[in-house]
Amino acid sequence: MLNFAIFPSILKMEREVIHIVKKLLNGGDEVAGNYTYGGTESIFLALKTARDYMKANRDITKPNIVIPYTGHPAFLKSADYLDIEVRYASLTDEYTVDVDDLNKKIDRHTIAIIGSAPNYPYGTMDNIKALSEIALEKDIWLHVDACIGGFVLPFLKDLGLDIPPYDFTLEGVSSISIDLHKYGYTPKGGSIILYRNRGYRLHQIYINASWPGYPLVNTTVLSSRSAGPLAAAYTTLKYLGYRGYLELTKKILEAKEEIMDGLERLGFRILGKPVSSIVTFTSDDIDLFILAEKMRSKGWYIQLQPGSLKMGFPPSIHLTISPVHSVTSSEFIEDLKQVVEEVRDYHIEIPDEISSLKNLDELIELLGLKDLSFNRMDLVNRLIYMLPPEEVEKVFKEVINKIYP
Ligand SMILES: *Cc1c(COP(=O)(O)O)cnc(C)c1O
Repeated sequence: MLNFAIFPSILKMEREVIHIVKKLLNGGDEVAGNYTYGGTESIFLALKTARDYMKANRDITKPNIVIPYTGHPAFLKSADYLDIEVRYASLTDEYTVDVDDLNKKIDRHTIAIIGSAPNYPYGTMDNIKALSEIALEKDIWLHVDACIGGFVLPFLKDLGLDIPPYDFTLEGVSSISIDLHKYGYTPKGGSIILYRNRGYRLHQIYINASWPGYPLVNTTVLSSRSAGPLAAAYTTLKYLGYRGYLELTKKILEAKEEIMDGLERLGFRILGKPVSSIVTFTSDDIDLFILAEKMRSKGWYIQLQPGSLKMGFPPSIHLTISPVHSVTSSEFIEDLKQVVEEVRDYHIEIPDEISSLKNLDELIELLGLKDLSFNRMDLVNRLIYMLPPEEVEKVFKEVINKIYP
């Protein structure tokens, strides 16, 4: 994808993919965007572009962003790389951003505010309309993270569901990230970053003509890139078409309704209002750490989110519902019912061995990370829940540094 003068067909494909996606998000002619290799890259570019745009137009020396606790870590990682300060906005009882709190955290060095449509942990949607009004009033950047919702929400809306606005129809939305390699059903290595206008996107582009070699033209983070994922995305979009996505979204909706009914019948508590294809639930009396492992042994991979005692996030189970689940949801609820009965009386403690561990290698062995069996994920997750997040991050870094070559 590096040299469009030699491979113009690749630029043509990118143009067409952007055109399709921007229409999906109600972007007009002035909306510009690029194909990236993933949501993280789209988000990284959005923050870099917002930072440089704001610096070019305003006297900003110490840039910061304000983001709800549910915002994806890709923003925090990008802020870390880009030396941007992060300010968190708290959540409401509905697990969406507390708009007033977010507003209070903004100051003259704030370059951008962030909202998710929806967020990953709970599948709840921030009040993007309110964020858009704040962005207009304070003249700052608003990035909407539609990485996981962007290919589901437009179709749910067309199926008649009441979906709050989140796209370019809101005047204050400056940029949107949307992943192809999630609900676009394209192979991994595909996402899109869109900007309200070319004046914004200008700050994303990197050009270097100050060396003896060819003039380096980079629209994104990577330089030499395979066009394979782009070609696959182009093909998938063309193959499925509007009707294909609509049909697949209908299946998600069927599965979601059946699963949510089942969860409620089994006494689980669904967190917030799941607007798209993610449903997250918790329980006050069932040990979710064990439940997740028991379900895994039955062949179901349900994602345990350990939460954090210190931060007040409960352990929960995250379901990413796909079209295929319209076939498997009743079986899933059946198995879940069985497992609930099995684990109802479980009460697990942290094993004593933990306190007598002498070094990190012993911990790695105990947690099943040495032989890569990952057979004590219940314990790993329980420790993550119980320890302060800074401790978890520190230990994890050391562990990862040991298990990778
Ligand atoms: C997946 C996801 C991202 C990050 O995307 P990657 O493709 O994994 O880099 C960002 N935001 C949300 C809401 C996501 O679900």
